Amino acid sequence: MSETFTAMVIDTIDGRPKGSFREMTVADLPDNDVLVEVAYSTLNYKDGLAISGKGKIARRTPLIGGVDLCGTVVESRVPEWKAGDRVMVNGWGLSETEFGGYARFAKLKPEWLIRLPDVFSEAQAMAIGTAGYTAALCVDALEKWGTIRPGEGEVLVTGAAGGVGSVAIALLAAAGYNVTASTGRPETQDYLRSLGARNFIDRAVLQEKGGPLQKERWTGGIDSVGSTTLANALSQTVRGGAIAACGLAGGADLPGTVIPHILRSVALIGVDSVMAPQSQRQSAWARLARDLDLAKLDSITQMQPMSKLPDLAEDILAGKIRGRVVIDVS
Ligand code: NDP
Repeated sequence: MSETFTAMVIDTIDGRPKGSFREMTVADLPDNDVLVEVAYSTLNYKDGLAISGKGKIARRTPLIGGVDLCGTVVESRVPEWKAGDRVMVNGWGLSETEFGGYARFAKLKPEWLIRLPDVFSEAQAMAIGTAGYTAALCVDALEKWGTIRPGEGEVLVTGAAGGVGSVAIALLAAAGYNVTASTGRPETQDYLRSLGARNFIDRAVLQEKGGPLQKERWTGGIDSVGSTTLANALSQTVRGGAIAACGLAGGADLPGTVIPHILRSVALIGVDSVMAPQSQRQSAWARLARDLDLAKLDSITQMQPMSKLPDLAEDILAGKIRGRVVIDVS
């Protein structure tokens, strides 16, 4: 295990955490119980922030970036995991306080690992990655809220052509919901329709400041954009409906009022994938294994080498990535 491998390391450069390539060995990894040979990682919005240095994602440096990874156990000091097990990790502080997936090897805590569902290849699991698993957490959260029923009314998905949005549309459509996609890229409409979107709303419409109580339209929604978009989504949600919010691609502010919540009992359900308990993760991955059409998944996915990460980081922050990017770390 003395061979060297290339890692995308987030280090402090000119006072800010930023990514660059570095040669490492297994001896450079933290002393966690399970050694995994990583096959693939992914590119999420948060990875774009970490690599480019445009967001302070890494809270200690240096560390290996990449919030997701998938691979095979090589060595384990605990009985739950054995050499040869196919595993993945989403979140748990990878790329924030822990070494992540942008390297051929990772040493991981046993409680972070999830067994790869049989239906997915390693590349498909990473095509889903944090973005897709978060979309599944959001659908689960809406169903748990209990007022949103398949076939009744419209469910809004914002940031539709992005990673979270694309998987959210596919999952909602598979469960029978009538999905309206909000996108700023009209050229993606055929793509979004192929995933299951029935109606479209220009994202600029949701970015115009509106009143606190607008015409009721959405029975529910999944928002990865935040800011005025989320405030409008809440103001346009029907009595008793809910919006599951997970992202800030359009801004971290929330310029709204309490009015939709106190006059229409509209719920704003926050969704965090990073520290989600194992029970929620298992449920989200079970939904993905059951409902996600693999042909659709393949149609939203592109495979890229690690060497492209610096350019891809800029692209995802500029809203230029459609669907999901799998990173081949070999
Ligand atoms: P992507 O970049 O793949 O998708 C984001 C989409 O948002 C874009 O494709 C675009 O959709 C839209 N968008 C981008 N910029 C703007 C803007 N300025 N104004 C309005 N819309 C915009 O990112 P991901 O899907 O990976 O992540 C989406 C968000 O969710 C991010 O903020 C990310 O940090 C967050 N996230 C949170 C998680 C959690 O645990 N809470 C987990 C995963 C992601 P279109 O072109 O269709 O308009």
